[in-house]
Amino acid sequence: MKIAVIGAGAFGSWTAFHLQKAGHHVTLIDRHGPGNPKASSGGESRMIRSIYGKGHQYIQWTARSLALWNSFQSQWQEELYVKTGILWMFSESDDFARDALPVLDQLNLKVNELSKGTVAKRFPQINTDGIKTFFYEPDAGLLRANHSCKVVVDQFIKLGGDYVEKCVKPPECAHGELREIKMDDGATIQADHYIFCCGPWMGTVFPDVIGGLIQPTRQEVFFFDTPPEFMSGHMPMWGHFGDGFRYGIPGSTYHGFKFADDNRGASFDPETGDRNPSPAGMEAAKKYVSLRFPGLKNADIIDTRVCQYENTPDEHFIIDRHPEAENGWLLGGGSGHGFKMGPALGEVMADLVSGQKPINPFFALRRFDGDSLSEINLS
Ligand SMILES: Cc1cc2nc3c(=O)[nH]c(=O)nc-3n(C[C@H](O)[C@H](O)[C@H](O)COP(=O)(O)OP(=O)(O)OC[C@H]3O[C@@H](n4cnc5c(N)ncnc54)[C@H](O)[C@@H]3O)c2cc1C
Repeated sequence: MKIAVIGAGAFGSWTAFHLQKAGHHVTLIDRHGPGNPKASSGGESRMIRSIYGKGHQYIQWTARSLALWNSFQSQWQEELYVKTGILWMFSESDDFARDALPVLDQLNLKVNELSKGTVAKRFPQINTDGIKTFFYEPDAGLLRANHSCKVVVDQFIKLGGDYVEKCVKPPECAHGELREIKMDDGATIQADHYIFCCGPWMGTVFPDVIGGLIQPTRQEVFFFDTPPEFMSGHMPMWGHFGDGFRYGIPGSTYHGFKFADDNRGASFDPETGDRNPSPAGMEAAKKYVSLRFPGLKNADIIDTRVCQYENTPDEHFIIDRHPEAENGWLLGGGSGHGFKMGPALGEVMADLVSGQKPINPFFALRRFDGDSLSEINLS
């Protein structure tokens, strides 16, 4: 089949790769390039970790993706994943970890509950005050974000896929299908299926069908100058549920010690939004880091990023057919946690388009009609 994939971020690049590998003739189109600085997959690093509360489907996709990240990085001789481990810290309820334990166990994903004494001894860089419980996932790690999008697209091209750098206009459906897509330079592409993986742009590409259902928010990320004891190999990635959720990645050859606050920021336009960090965000980052990691009290911020999450109302992905086009498909709404699952989601899309698997109603658009969400179970 001829398939057009629009968007070469984590979702689109892996989707195009898997479909081309399965023998289809795929054209991948991106307006700014794979993992570009405006995309949600931009920047150097993302986390892969398996604890996901009751989100059992996400744990399964993460397990599958971890296997694929590992297998393709050795096949392609490219470092895409750096094993660092992750330390989860809970100041109050730790249900997010405990609810995941049975499924992690079934899938042989390792996780250990650690005592405060063990953490203090093993990771003396971390101030454990105010933390009640700790869980450690040894196989978690950092993924090379923009780099891996480029590598996946290179591999897709090596398999014979076509890559085009142009902007696709909002498509028009007629008689229950899409006949073609038009680029902003007037060129057109015809295919049997069209898969839209436009990240935070989904609402502008589909103002009627998606519109505000995917809401980009401004997210600030800070990188600190990194003494050796805060480098990967000396300390793990970390995530802290306290007043909100904060997380970070140790320094590596790819960048400094990363800090981010997961609270959703203001609405953000991925095309025109101001990508300078706010003084308030910078102060808050310094305050948290110096408290939780006292050895970084005087560390300089050496770099910053302003990225965007592309949030759905329930923070779950959208994986569905276009409601007015039998051959149109929508994959998006990563909501701040999608990158790691790119490899598995690419397989899911390949199965959907070739009719091998049905749409999971949990991820379908109609969950946003009325209050049907509560009736559908993710596990
Ligand atoms: C600060 C931050 C930290 C994060 N941390 C993590 C993490 O640790 N772990 C994790 O798993 N996830 C994380 N995420 C979430 C994850 O990065 C995203 O969910 C994921 O990258 C989304 O990928 P995507 O392919 O859907 O979107 P994108 O990467 O935005 O890709 C969409 C692509 O579509 C292209 N495009 C858009 N419109 C058009 C058009 N009209 N024509 C042609 N091309 C078009 C764009 O140029 C873009 O390249 C984080 C996100 C942010 C912002």
